[in-house]
Amino acid sequence: MQTLYLDNQASTPISEVVLEQMLSAGFGNPHSNQHSVGWRTHALVERAREDVAELIGAQADEIFFTSGATEANNLAVLGVRRATDNGRGFIVTSSIEHKSILASCEALAKEHGFKISIVQPDSQGFVSGSALADNADQDRTALISMGLVNNEIGVIQDLSALRQAAGTLLLHCDAAQAPEAMEMSTTAGLCDLMSLSAHKMRGPMGIGALYIARHAQRHIAPILHGGGQQGGIRPGTLPVHLCVGMGAACRLAAKNADERSTIASLRHKFLLRLRELGLPFELNGPRDFSRRHPGNANLRVPGLDAEQLIALMQPGLAISTGSACTSGIMEPSHVLTALGLNHDEASSSLRVSIGYRNTADEMVAAAQMLFDAHRRTV
Ligand code: PMP
Repeated sequence: MQTLYLDNQASTPISEVVLEQMLSAGFGNPHSNQHSVGWRTHALVERAREDVAELIGAQADEIFFTSGATEANNLAVLGVRRATDNGRGFIVTSSIEHKSILASCEALAKEHGFKISIVQPDSQGFVSGSALADNADQDRTALISMGLVNNEIGVIQDLSALRQAAGTLLLHCDAAQAPEAMEMSTTAGLCDLMSLSAHKMRGPMGIGALYIARHAQRHIAPILHGGGQQGGIRPGTLPVHLCVGMGAACRLAAKNADERSTIASLRHKFLLRLRELGLPFELNGPRDFSRRHPGNANLRVPGLDAEQLIALMQPGLAISTGSACTSGIMEPSHVLTALGLNHDEASSSLRVSIGYRNTADEMVAAAQMLFDAHRRTV
């Protein structure tokens, strides 16, 4: 039995175009600067860096490759640990961030004495500029870290409003989910640091990047120490194939506007079909679909044991409860509880995430599978 894959926010299938370019990358250490094999792979890596920069409207020397968004988020948050020397021992973040942000903030609090202010979103997941401004202290805050597009409920934050509220404070955005969800070309201009992940945007797993605006680079201390690559901010031999893959994925993402609207219409079809079948559900997260990841639907089905329902459908339908990174831990999603859902409501919620390979027929089939499985559980 084939699996119908609707878990694209956990990881997108890698694009054939990306894969082909990775396969043609060849061998050689991109930091070997004494021979042509090294020069060639170095050029490939630098071209990829330009592609990442171009996607978000940055310069190539502002892009630092990492092993993924988890590492990029750690570098952004832990990177400011020396700010306490200047009396800036505060971080502001929100309660719906990815664990790689929240856990890094906890580490900063525990190991470096930082105070963490956690902003609460509204019941649809929006973090307002005023809530941010209330928590930020222009004299003592070292960093503000806000997710641009949420991985569970798909909420797209108003980056301009967050920038305005942050003023001149360093603003970091976890944008791992953003390239499949929104136009990215001016985003670097609105924040000082931004995390990206290739496998959330049709690229390979194991690579991501942290954008650090030139003016912010002196504020970021490395978390790894080594051979001084990437200006010493993130040393280590760069994985050429992965860099090439991420660059290719960024080139695709830069022109995915039409696909985003196709994906949104697939989601519309899926939700309509579920309503036609008569599955009782509410949507968690933003009701205004123009401010939501086009492929995201987070459904709450009253009385449902979501874990059990998903298990019943295996291997037919790949969907998830909350983020893949926290599934396996039997506690309700911290994102859903932050919206005000109680334990039972959060445990009756499912995330469906539609992607570029899905079809209209799959929407009909997936709705039917969910409906049939739900009937078996009641
Ligand atoms: N941030 C967000 C919003 C994510 O969705 C994820 C992946 N679940 C990450 C960070 C971590 O990304 P990676 O898998 O590249 O470490």
